[in-house]
Amino acid sequence: MAILTFQAARKTVLEKILHNRPLPIQEFVPILQTTGRVLAQNVLADRDFPPFPRSTRDGYAVLSADISSPPVKLRCAGLARAGTSFNESMVSMQCVEIMTGAAVPQGADAVVMVEHTQRQGDWVEIQKPAASGENIVWQGSEARQGDEVIPQGRRLGYSEIAMMAAVGLSDVSVYQKPRVAILPTGDEIVDVAATPGPFQIRNSNSYSLQAQVASSGATAIPLGIAPDGEIRLRQLIVEGLTCDILLLSGGVSAGRFDLVEKVLSELGAEFYFEGVSMQPGKPLVFGTVNGTFFFGLPGNPISTMVTFELFVCPALRILGGENFHPQPFLKARLAKNIRRKPGLASFLPAILEGDSYDPVVSPLEWKGSGDLASLNRANCYLAVPEQAEELQAGQWVSVLPR
Ligand code: AMP
Ligand code: MG
Repeated sequence: MAILTFQAARKTVLEKILHNRPLPIQEFVPILQTTGRVLAQNVLADRDFPPFPRSTRDGYAVLSADISSPPVKLRCAGLARAGTSFNESMVSMQCVEIMTGAAVPQGADAVVMVEHTQRQGDWVEIQKPAASGENIVWQGSEARQGDEVIPQGRRLGYSEIAMMAAVGLSDVSVYQKPRVAILPTGDEIVDVAATPGPFQIRNSNSYSLQAQVASSGATAIPLGIAPDGEIRLRQLIVEGLTCDILLLSGGVSAGRFDLVEKVLSELGAEFYFEGVSMQPGKPLVFGTVNGTFFFGLPGNPISTMVTFELFVCPALRILGGENFHPQPFLKARLAKNIRRKPGLASFLPAILEGDSYDPVVSPLEWKGSGDLASLNRANCYLAVPEQAEELQAGQWVSVLPR
């Protein structure tokens, strides 16, 4: 049975999905409806950016060679306002009054901020020198006409929407969202609408998973609750495998009634791994049946959530056509010493607080991977690498926000 380290398991998921995904079907949508969607085309600059040499300041356009030994008096030849241009070419010992966003007249090679000038009628005293190019963004220096400004596979947000608007696109091609089947398992699990018997547990995993699937840019298809019995479990797994990917929760540990792997094997599953040396999340399973990927997520609510964030979310993003690489963890200073048994990478509910530039993380008391209440007092996970044995207060440690 393959048990991988956290890093190796994550690499396996990313590689397997990237190399075996069919690219999703495309659809054409208005740019304002593309937040969180994945771009299925390249976006090109329709003209030079900027389309003219743009002044970044209010002031005077000058020839920098004229003002190398200030103060210097220049004759003001006119005005360049945003949206229009000063039509003549400037010559030595002239200047042109210019506004932010206006085109720098031909012949000028610098703009002096109005704060460093003194106007007297048609004459302007320049009080500071300027290097050639100062306060000017040259035509085409941000992007040339025809350059790719957003690549296919980018997940779209406000800055991409601004870029698409700037190049004049009203509608773009995006990928359809992957469909994700969610199958909770367990004889003790009941629907949230039911009144649980004394030893029954409400099906919270379906809910956390639906929320996490939606925020990973995919569509959740919740299936019924599978009992710990082979026949019905098998029927529901077969149904789930008609989606783009199947997520199971529970039934992947070593218990006598943990049947998920057995039923998947009988359906011809190939398992890429059947455990990860991490806590929570050790029994995580990943594989395919006839080309459809599945994850068997451990049933404890925190295990389900953490393994989703670390493995399933990247998988769904890649499956959705995104050119995705997981972000490095954040860093923060540890609030107190930690002693632990090495061997498993751990992800502990914690509170991240402090100043923007001086973050501090404090792990919370918790009762292990079933402790949903403690997780709801936390705002992050403290990520401790496998081999760490002693962590000192004040040392920089890794944090996974949630
Ligand atoms: P399992 O992975 O099936 O051994 O389940 C581990 C723990 O998670 C048990 O305490 C289960 O009752 C609990 N659990 C399993 N599935 C769910 C679910 N869908 N919602 C809430 N808790 C669950
Ligand atoms: Mg179970």
